[in-house]
Amino acid sequence: MRLIFIGPPGSGKGTQAKLLSQRLGLIHFATGDILREAIRLQTPEGKQAHPYMSVGKMVPDSLINAMVDARFRSNECPNRFVMDGYPRNLAQAVSFDAILNECKLSLDAVIFLRVADEEIVKRLSARWNCPNPTCKATYNTQFKPPKSPGICDDCGSPLMQREDDKPETIQRRLGIFHELTNALLDHYRNQGLLVEVPGIGEIDAIYRSVEQALAARKR
Ligand SMILES: [Zn+2]
Repeated sequence: MRLIFIGPPGSGKGTQAKLLSQRLGLIHFATGDILREAIRLQTPEGKQAHPYMSVGKMVPDSLINAMVDARFRSNECPNRFVMDGYPRNLAQAVSFDAILNECKLSLDAVIFLRVADEEIVKRLSARWNCPNPTCKATYNTQFKPPKSPGICDDCGSPLMQREDDKPETIQRRLGIFHELTNALLDHYRNQGLLVEVPGIGEIDAIYRSVEQALAARKR
């Protein structure tokens, strides 16, 4: 099976892609991990990507496309895979179509994990940290709240939110996600590949919905 997994930040897309890869024996092609590994190993691509990644910017399409192409043209060309984090916009999808065509591989489905923006903001902004460098305790107001709101259980410091976990930052990231993803979803919808799965509930329940959606496509 050859799949692309798309979902907003905080949708649990990575978890689901990993489960699919483990249970169906697919290569989990996570471009974020590949980039971080390239940076760690200081490969030529890693060196090019580092200045973007280190300030949280998007790595240019040309660089990502070249990395994916190189992998598909190599003798480690993945035959059964789930793409996680790529393609993330229409230009990348067009490039990916071309390399798949060149490798005579066709996609089975593109899964979109749909989660409402308000839910994402609620999930991600639940994370709070203790700023005390000798403590660094982490909390989640939904799943692991501190005993007194806003105060670290361990050291009594007032809790803080990372920039990435603030509602306004999350809203901004979601805005960018939708802007890029709408055209991407249309692209795959037009190819008859798009499958939408609601990303709400327990991890296993979501996984079963993904499985059912894939099975329904085959019939
Ligand atoms: Zn603390």
